[in-house]
Amino acid sequence: MRCVLLTTVIVVCPISVYASHPHPTIVLNYAFKPLVNNGKLVMRILLQFQGGPIENADLVVPTTWGDAKDLDKGIANLKNVHEAGHVRISYDLVKDWVVPPSRADHHAILEPEYFEFNTQNGLVHPKFATTTRVEVRFDWRKLLPGWSLATSFGAGDRLQSFRGTWGEVNNALFAGGDFRIYQRDISGRPVIVAIRSNWQFTDEEVAVRILKVISFERAFWRDYNFPYYLVTVSTFGRDDGGSGGGGFTNAFALFLQRGSSFGYGVQSLLAHETFHTWNPYRMGVLPDSSIGMSWFTEGFTTYYQDVLLLRAGLLSFPEYVQHTNENLRKYLLSPARNVTNQEVIERHRVDSASDVIPYSRGATTALWLDSTIRKGTRGKSSLDTLMFDLVRQARRRKPALTAERVFRTAGKYIDAAALQQLREYAELGKTIPVPAAALGPCATLQMNDIPTFELGIDREALISQHTVSGVKAGSAAFEAGLRDGQQVTRTNIYWNDVSKPVQLTVHTEGGSKAVEYYPRGSSLGLIPQYHLSAEASSSPDHCVQ
Ligand SMILES: [Zn+2]
Repeated sequence: MRCVLLTTVIVVCPISVYASHPHPTIVLNYAFKPLVNNGKLVMRILLQFQGGPIENADLVVPTTWGDAKDLDKGIANLKNVHEAGHVRISYDLVKDWVVPPSRADHHAILEPEYFEFNTQNGLVHPKFATTTRVEVRFDWRKLLPGWSLATSFGAGDRLQSFRGTWGEVNNALFAGGDFRIYQRDISGRPVIVAIRSNWQFTDEEVAVRILKVISFERAFWRDYNFPYYLVTVSTFGRDDGGSGGGGFTNAFALFLQRGSSFGYGVQSLLAHETFHTWNPYRMGVLPDSSIGMSWFTEGFTTYYQDVLLLRAGLLSFPEYVQHTNENLRKYLLSPARNVTNQEVIERHRVDSASDVIPYSRGATTALWLDSTIRKGTRGKSSLDTLMFDLVRQARRRKPALTAERVFRTAGKYIDAAALQQLREYAELGKTIPVPAAALGPCATLQMNDIPTFELGIDREALISQHTVSGVKAGSAAFEAGLRDGQQVTRTNIYWNDVSKPVQLTVHTEGGSKAVEYYPRGSSLGLIPQYHLSAEASSSPDHCVQ
């Protein structure tokens, strides 16, 4: 985020309007007016506030958010007028991309049919500390007739206001246009699902799935303290552009590819982001730079996203085993497996793309810790107990969420030797032993040789020309009979999955021929993987712990 002091058109001395109230609540008034011209949406935004201590404050203009950079290209005709203690800022928020970037959801989305943006990628505002008390009013009365409205602060109502901390406003979501709005309840609290575009699934199916994930997580935490919640389901702009999503104040935004199903990828994203409501946000205050805690905040959340989908019945036990194995492969085969947490922090400063190890390593730490607590307490406690404890500690006061606090709390449920191990896994990156009984009686642990995914033929030629070329001598593809020059009439490939065969139908001189082989290349290493035990098929009801 870049702060700029804008050139003022009229400069007058600030008058002391708040002389008798040394700490007034700051009031900001935003008004929005969408203009559709030549198939483009321009959102004209007017921000007004009364002088006082913020009149001469620096203004923050969106520049970067998440993966999006140069967001100020989307801010046009910015004017800033100070007059007699009254500040009036106007600008046009416009679309800042033509070809959808990989994370278009990090940019303000403005299309003739709809808009979706957040404070950090769309709103110009004075600079505040996140703890500053503010009152913010949003005037949406100029929205086009027939447009719907759904934001962090309500749905439908064209005049919205919020009182609270700037941090909550700074993390707010705003959406409107051709969204179809559905209101549901969880324990008497409204949950709004705002869906636009057409999908392979019905709105009702999506609403049911979303409600199931959110209500299951609230039941898990026994926490229903949510006056209002919004979930938006949309695409990146008008074109296809990948999927993504994230949590906001009282809201969650989901972006899907056209034609995508509401499968594991989407449900795990929703389960993951919903879990962040508690880990870390209801566990206390995170340090300013939170990357050092990501082994816990991201890693433990990654572990629970699958555990909770399994317990909610949205993931079968065999699927759960498969995703757990996938995570173990990611962790144990990563070149960053044993970097220290300090190194994770230092690498993050240079390249945030190196932040993946805390996810898989943290998830493996959680798997180990759950198993260790269950064993040590003879099943009386589990990792759940520790997580609830951390939230309970933050209910009245807001203690800092630090590694020390997590260790101290863990020390109530594990012995000193295990606590020492936990510190070594989290801080020193020591290799975590995968506990054999962690998944219960329905899964056993075995050492498996993990091969690379090797198609054995040229991928590009197969995809673009439907031709076999570049057959690698000695590969499984060669052994199965593939030869350069063959025409491919049918393909069935699970990319990067060595457990499923590649199936091709090729045209040869002798006619059509079905070819099947496992795309396995050289060994990546021997690592532990879970396998379904006999009990998984004889008594599947006992598999979920
Ligand atoms: Zn996360």
